[in-house]
Amino acid sequence: MATRLPEKEIVVIGGGLTAGLVARKLVPAGREVLVLERGPDWSGSAVGELPHQRDELRWATYRGMTRRENVETYTLRHSPDEEALPMRQLLSFLPGFGVGGAAQHWNGQTWRFSESDYVLRQHLTERYGAKSIPDGMTIQDWGLTYRDLQPYYEEFEALFGIAGKAGNLRGVRQAGGNPFEPWRATEYPLPPLEMSEASQIFKDATGQLGYEAFPLPAANASQPYRNPDGMQLGQCQYCGHCERFTCEANAKATPASLLFPLVRSRPNFELRAGAEVIRLNTTADGTRLESVSYVDVATGQEFIQPGSLFVLCSYTLSNVRLLLLSKIGTPYDPVTRTGTVGKNYCYQVTSGLNMFFPDRYINPFMGAGALGFVIDDFNNDNFDHTGLGFHGGGYISATQTNGRPIDTRRLPPGTPRWGSAWKKANADWYLRSMGLSVHGSNYANARNYMDLDPDYKDQWGRPLLRITFDFDDNDALMCRYVNGKMEEIAAAAGAKIVGKASVRKSPYDTRQYQSTHNTGGTIMGSDPGSSVVSPHLQSWDVENLFISGASVFPQNSGYNPTGPVGALGLRLAEDLLSYLSGPRRLG
Ligand SMILES: Cc1cc2nc3c(=O)[nH]c(=O)nc-3n(C[C@H](O)[C@H](O)[C@H](O)COP(=O)(O)OP(=O)(O)OC[C@H]3O[C@@H](n4cnc5c(N)ncnc54)[C@H](O)[C@@H]3O)c2cc1C
Ligand code: SF4
Repeated sequence: MATRLPEKEIVVIGGGLTAGLVARKLVPAGREVLVLERGPDWSGSAVGELPHQRDELRWATYRGMTRRENVETYTLRHSPDEEALPMRQLLSFLPGFGVGGAAQHWNGQTWRFSESDYVLRQHLTERYGAKSIPDGMTIQDWGLTYRDLQPYYEEFEALFGIAGKAGNLRGVRQAGGNPFEPWRATEYPLPPLEMSEASQIFKDATGQLGYEAFPLPAANASQPYRNPDGMQLGQCQYCGHCERFTCEANAKATPASLLFPLVRSRPNFELRAGAEVIRLNTTADGTRLESVSYVDVATGQEFIQPGSLFVLCSYTLSNVRLLLLSKIGTPYDPVTRTGTVGKNYCYQVTSGLNMFFPDRYINPFMGAGALGFVIDDFNNDNFDHTGLGFHGGGYISATQTNGRPIDTRRLPPGTPRWGSAWKKANADWYLRSMGLSVHGSNYANARNYMDLDPDYKDQWGRPLLRITFDFDDNDALMCRYVNGKMEEIAAAAGAKIVGKASVRKSPYDTRQYQSTHNTGGTIMGSDPGSSVVSPHLQSWDVENLFISGASVFPQNSGYNPTGPVGALGLRLAEDLLSYLSGPRRLG
């Protein structure tokens, strides 16, 4: 039997990035906040300390900061008429687990979305005509514009000490920055990371082709930095153990280093780790939440936690699953295209190739999560799509995230997969190879969505989340086009050997890491008939429930998602204070 606990004012479900942003604002304002996090509290554990921090087998290969698949996984099918099967290993994406969430072990590539992203359907209709958008491409506008989010991007970048070079200050083009950047009010808080040899090769090659490469905006501090809250970051050591690891130099901006320490010791804040929320409990008429049910994962004991305001911050996949399990909103139906919960699940269309230079010395072990140079000419609608037959695009970059011994083995095509020739090729090419990559958009498709699996259950007996997803023709055409541009850059770079570009096309293969950029399922919009939350991220169905994270994106852009996730999280924190001053539907 579940134990009913005393009421808390604000109950936050999930203890990752967006939870930290909400707590940072509400707790100092005197509000009582409880965060329920299913995973452990990593602070003070081996994860962040040398020599354990550099254990590649533990944190990267075995994905030590991700939840074990034998406890919870997802089922996948490529189309609504297939039977879904559980993913036996989580390899394609790595949902966060533990205080800090996925942002604890992220890379830190921190973008702003394009101005057209927020009004995508309107923008593409105006530029190419309504007929250019295929019937199955269920893209939607966000219900807000870049202008609404701009100040919050500014605030997020200041909090997280983003290192970069502005390309557009209040409409004035800035040399050295992204020529396609949406306008910004101020320069990045920190200068860019160092230029690596790989970045130099990329910059030279793209320059020859007439493109302007610029440094990737990074949440890896290029210098020691004190943020506006007085929180301190150290300087990045280019240690190459960034993605999938915590930072032992305290140089990577994370919720655990910059957000939770601000509130942890306050009497009006409580963080319960190992508390897995299994249900959101509505009042009898279904219009308000009155409590959540959670399980103490150490004992299996169930608790009911009442509250007056609830914020769902449990990442895209859990946000959707908890709504479905709690029967909040109408599940999406891909046949009738009605219902909204689970709708417009999107991912990222990534690809890459390897280049080999016998005469260059590339130091791949000197890496950082967001170390690299980029061109943005073929992203989103930065180029004319007339006659191309697809929408969207991707940025092309030379990023040097790591040269770790298990993970990083770039070998020329045709190299044997074992034996002395394989060993020799490793020795010959480790220091003399680099990669190019494309990070591409994924626009919504009526057939891609999430619902509850009818067959498979987790350890608490609850249905697993079922993902129905595949790359469609738009993705394949876009990938082929931008890959062609990447291959031209590889040719201009003068590599002796260029590997074959990987291509994202059907069927989606979950055995390869692609990104943890899962979006949609609780999408935002100004019409309750086609969205789950309002532009203020307030549930249309349950007034005292707000939802945060990339699950609110109506479709996914060609950029990494955490810049807008952070900006939306900061805007939400202000909206929550406003709501608390007089509970109502925010308009
Ligand atoms: C390896 C990796 C690299 C990445 N690199 C980048 C990058 O370079 N750039 C970029 O833009 N983005 C990157 N990301 C994505 C980025 O980490 C996420 O966008 C960001 O963390 C999302 O914030 P969130 O608050 O929505 O979710 P999270 O930060 O993941 O927090 C969600 C939390 O909710 C908890 N939770 C889930 N379900 C429950 C439940 N039922 N009960 C209680 N708690 C629950 C989880 O355990 C987790 O701690 C990366 C992610 C990974 C994994
Ligand atoms: S690369 Fe830099 S920011 Fe990343 S973990 Fe290493 S020191 Fe920290």
